Amino acid sequence: MSIEISNVSKRFGSFVALDDVSVSIPSGQLTALLGPSGGGKSTLLRIIAGLEQADSGSVRIEGVDATGLPPQKRNVGFVFQHYAAFKHMSVRRNVAFGLEIRRRPKAEIRERVDELLRLVHLEQFGDRLPAQLSGGQRQRMALARALAVEPTVLLLDEPFGALDAKVRKELRDWLRRLHDEVHVTTVFVTHDQEEALEVADEIVVINDGRIEQIGTPDELYDAPANDFVMRFLGPVT
Ligand code: ADP
Ligand code: MG
Repeated sequence: MSIEISNVSKRFGSFVALDDVSVSIPSGQLTALLGPSGGGKSTLLRIIAGLEQADSGSVRIEGVDATGLPPQKRNVGFVFQHYAAFKHMSVRRNVAFGLEIRRRPKAEIRERVDELLRLVHLEQFGDRLPAQLSGGQRQRMALARALAVEPTVLLLDEPFGALDAKVRKELRDWLRRLHDEVHVTTVFVTHDQEEALEVADEIVVINDGRIEQIGTPDELYDAPANDFVMRFLGPVT
């Protein structure tokens, strides 16, 4: 089981954003979608989420044909760079939201939210408002909220992009540890080579709407498939 993207193409007007992309993303792994700005990373992620529909091709998520399904039928959790929290709700209620609209029993919600807040190290902050959190804490809250409904797949689009370098590094290490604990199939979009190399089990390099290479960090380093990958991952000279 996995995310199977087969021959997906997407145009915006005459501009080809994704050109016959096929990639298989293994279950339970942390996969980075890495490439320069404008390469098609967000478009591919949005197609996996169902926020955008491909012009052609298909998407299977954990064995289910998701092509054409709306986001709410795909059981995906999504975290963006600029996370929109409910400003007037406590951190707890923000995390609980997805469970409340699904009318889960109150006791179950309470227990699950406690567990999630522990998982993202926000157990002391449940009663605060989002505005009273730091940027890094807010993104951890966003992750807890995405995980609340136990998604089959967690999709992160440059989740730490707006944070400063030190916090970004902390969150990157934290995401790695979190993933080792929950093992949810995760696709992480970044344009930052170091971030991808440090955090991912496997990296999909995408540029100009095409897949350049798929491999582990070591494989990409040791055997870049072409000049683009070599230059993109190579040491800055
Ligand atoms: P990345 O996330 O890798 O930076 P995107 O997937 O956001 O790249 O975008 C790929 C290309 O498609 C870019 O050139 C972008 O301008 C274009 N694009 C993305 N979304 C739209 C849209 N809704 N309308 C027109 N062009 C778009
Ligand atoms: Mg993007």
